Amino acid sequence: MAYKEKECPKCGTKHNKRGQYCSRSCGNGRVWSPEMREVFRQKQSEFINSDDDVAEEARWRINNYDEEEPPTPVRDMSTIESNQFVQDGDLWTKCD
Ligand SMILES: [Zn+2]
Repeated sequence: MAYKEKECPKCGTKHNKRGQYCSRSCGNGRVWSPEMREVFRQKQSEFINSDDDVAEEARWRINNYDEEEPPTPVRDMSTIESNQFVQDGDLWTKCD
């Protein structure tokens, strides 16, 4: 999936990755004042420790916020014939 092209606010590189930064190192360079950081930390821990589905999803997002989508697992490439392919974890056979 491609994202709209935009400029990294840190280094100005054009990219079409998820999020506004071109790379992890640029994304980590956000400047927070100590006060903002503390407020954010408190709000986040309050919310993250609540026990509902939204918090659970948010926990997942925090751990994966700038990761690429995980690759589709392929069980064993050697069992795939040349007219077959793997999509969404299922083996498909091409029909003409
Ligand atoms: Zn950048």
